[in-house]
Amino acid sequence: MGTIVCQTCDATIAHFEDEKVTTLYGKCCKCNSDETAEEEE
Ligand SMILES: [Zn+2]
Repeated sequence: MGTIVCQTCDATIAHFEDEKVTTLYGKCCKCNSDETAEEEE
């Protein structure tokens, strides 16, 4: 099973079917909307 995790707040965004355990990083809705407010690095 694969998991999509928010790279900013570590919240689990979604799960998807996969043969192996996979973790992908993305941004949740909350962090996407905050993107213009502050940007780290
Ligand atoms: Zn987030």
